[in-house]
Amino acid sequence: MVTKQHLLRQLPAISVILEQEAIKKLTGSFSHQVISDTAGEVVQGIREAILEEGEFTHPIDLDSIVSLMVNRLQEKAKPKLKKVINATGIILHTNLGRAVLAQSAVKAIEDIAANYSNLELDLTTGERGTRYSHVEELVCSLTGAEAALVVNNNAGAVLLVLSTLAKDKEVIVSRGQLVEIGGSFRIPDVMTQSGAALVEVGTTNKTHLRDYEQAMTDQTSLLLKVHTSNYKIIGFTAEVPISDLVKLGREKNIPVYEDLGSGVLVDFVKYGVIHEPTVRESIGAGADVVTCSGDKLFGGPQAGIIVGRADLISKMKKNPLTRALRIDKLTLAAMEATLRLYIDEDRAIREIPTLRMITMDGELISASAKRLAADINKQCGSGIKATVEDGYSQVGGGALPEENIPTCLVAISTSDISVNALEESLRQMDPPVLARIQKERLLIDPRTLLAGDSEIIINHLKKIFEI
Ligand SMILES: *Cc1c(COP(=O)(O)O)cnc(C)c1O
Repeated sequence: MVTKQHLLRQLPAISVILEQEAIKKLTGSFSHQVISDTAGEVVQGIREAILEEGEFTHPIDLDSIVSLMVNRLQEKAKPKLKKVINATGIILHTNLGRAVLAQSAVKAIEDIAANYSNLELDLTTGERGTRYSHVEELVCSLTGAEAALVVNNNAGAVLLVLSTLAKDKEVIVSRGQLVEIGGSFRIPDVMTQSGAALVEVGTTNKTHLRDYEQAMTDQTSLLLKVHTSNYKIIGFTAEVPISDLVKLGREKNIPVYEDLGSGVLVDFVKYGVIHEPTVRESIGAGADVVTCSGDKLFGGPQAGIIVGRADLISKMKKNPLTRALRIDKLTLAAMEATLRLYIDEDRAIREIPTLRMITMDGELISASAKRLAADINKQCGSGIKATVEDGYSQVGGGALPEENIPTCLVAISTSDISVNALEESLRQMDPPVLARIQKERLLIDPRTLLAGDSEIIINHLKKIFEI
């Protein structure tokens, strides 16, 4: 019997591995450091396996080690963050990167990334300008607000607003609105970070105007309304409308702040789909400050949009936190391009993927589903059967939990492998395909597929079923 010590002694030295022709050839694509680190990792891996296993059976000859190394280096060269195909029908899927950008936004990022820009230069005077100026006017004209500021994300926006307007003071908020957004972002925790003291009023299901009124003290600095975008309290409920909060705030000279979560700039009701308060409605109702996300229903890049009274926004701009939360130039480029699409609402609906998917015509989805199902049945062999059925898509992204949008699904059943195995295989292909499983069938929702995705799915299926 070969002892473990004997096996360990057989392992080649790193220097010997590095001398191999196959490894030397890699020096064109990998630095010496990476190659020798990888050799070390591979040998160490084998050493640990020898010491662990009862009976070690892996080959440890030089050729096997070299080929392990080549594989590992090729793995290292592959991107970890990559495109995936979203067949889930969840339009703003947090795990899949939320909003997909419009083409013009992608183009703007490319332009600004690859060139110098007037990021902080006023081209008229030749003097120093601010990065915020490029989008402020647009945001204001699209929301009806007096002033605007964009930051890194909406969590940052909430932090900045509270830190600027309520540090060391009290903020009144309804118990029904103390939300956790996900990724452990909780409104009460952000308050603590901002230095504001939270005064909770009302109960989980009902809060009345008088609850706010009774909680007001000379320390009150803000009345806060948080849009409960990721859950819904239904049944015996009462929430104070923003217009009533505004009335109370005006009476007592206390600003009213609404965190809308999703940044909606078009009235979706017109398109017969969902109802979600727009930023303009909130500003129109008299909110002094409103914040929302850039990459939820707004359909742009990750950002936080703050709009409201000029004097309050001006204070925020002077807060040192603004520098820590500042929006980067690529995001700003995408933000501006996305905002420009909203100048013409029809164009926004057509070109911003999030809006296009939400308002997508049922007939169109049905036709795509039928086409995809027919192609699968025709091209992917007898181990798989696709049918079309009615179902629901979701807006997602911590937005509109209740809003299911009717859709048409392609339901795939398999005979050779389990549906779980099929889901896993699709998820591990390149590009990965993410789909839902329901009742032993894999569901593909054409609503969230982008151009060319159907063809890729069919090719993947052919590979999996070896057609
Ligand atoms: C999503 C959300 C946030 C956080 O926004 P991010 O852009 O993810 O930082 C804050 N408040 C509400 C109400 C939200 O829905």
